[in-house]
Amino acid sequence: MKKTISRIILSALILSLTLSLLSCAGDKKEQARGRTISYTYFNTTSSLTVVGDIEDATLEAYLDESKKLLGYYHRLFDIYFDYSGMNNLRTVNGKAGKEPVKVDAELIDFLEYCKELYTLTGGKTNVMMGAVLQIWHNHREDAEYDPTAASVPAMEELFEADKHTSIDSLVIDREAGTVYITDPEASIDVGAIGKGYATERLYERLKAMGADSVALNIGGNIRTLGLKPGGEGWETGITNPDKTSADFATIISLGRTACVTSGDYERYYVVDGTRYHHIIDPDTLMPAAYFSAVTVITEDSGLADALSTALFCVDYDRGIEMLGKIDAKVDVIWITRDGRLIKTDGIVEIGG
Ligand code: ADP
Ligand code: MG
Repeated sequence: MKKTISRIILSALILSLTLSLLSCAGDKKEQARGRTISYTYFNTTSSLTVVGDIEDATLEAYLDESKKLLGYYHRLFDIYFDYSGMNNLRTVNGKAGKEPVKVDAELIDFLEYCKELYTLTGGKTNVMMGAVLQIWHNHREDAEYDPTAASVPAMEELFEADKHTSIDSLVIDREAGTVYITDPEASIDVGAIGKGYATERLYERLKAMGADSVALNIGGNIRTLGLKPGGEGWETGITNPDKTSADFATIISLGRTACVTSGDYERYYVVDGTRYHHIIDPDTLMPAAYFSAVTVITEDSGLADALSTALFCVDYDRGIEMLGKIDAKVDVIWITRDGRLIKTDGIVEIGG
């Protein structure tokens, strides 16, 4: 069995952000500090933190809902496995150039959003990059298997694959309830958006269940529901990409929002001393080399996820330009490759 299995979309174990709750005033110390339940669905470590009074049964219900919903999206977005009774992205990829595939409305909604995000990010976050990403993926897997044989993909191979990454080859027919990839060589990879999108759907579900004072950390995608009792923000440590020094590059306070990081320090392999990480600039077809990490704070977790990948693939000026075209309020922390921290005005730092 290929080791790719551990790399399934939604299962990337990237805890790029660590949610750390500090105690707040209150006589019930444990409640003030919060109760964090960590759970794993497939390979992703996630957690749900609740601060304040909550019945055990209610907490249990939140947890059940989390596992159910995340499990569903995991299966839906999976490009490596089939699941009985469901047409997922693997089914759609397998039928590329052959025929449209009938899928759940949830997948239609998601892929339509991915197309919007393609436009919004000027093509930098492109879910149709499967052909190119697969090449990098295979090289990374081979290097993990045998580091001495680690190699960089040949440019010709990447250029060839790049001919099969057109967003227009993804044809969505909402009325018929189908998705069709017109190019037989093209494939979908939603690694850049899927986890954030699923996190946002979970946020909506828990909100409808009445959840408040809850923080979700879904494999590094943070989404808060309300504030902590007393109106306090959520303290969140932003991982220091240079792991040899401090754990956190900074600690910030989050309101009702999402917070997602893309970084070069979690999934990579090394060839001749050079790191090759997993975020590929669609214009160079190489790992993007502008920053070590980009953190995006905006209300919608799906948007935050897509933007963190896109902003990682452009320099600061083009990033600011991209942000100018986005309707939502977005704050960003860029960490440069030499360890400098650049941030937008809305970032509330509480320590370092
Ligand atoms: P993380 O994996 O840490 O959540 P990202 O959200 O930046 O990081 O997503 C990276 C993943 O997205 C990669 O593993 C790959 O599957 C996919 N990907 C990489 N580069 C791009 C890109 N430019 N556009 C779309 N998807 C990408
Ligand atoms: Mg992303």
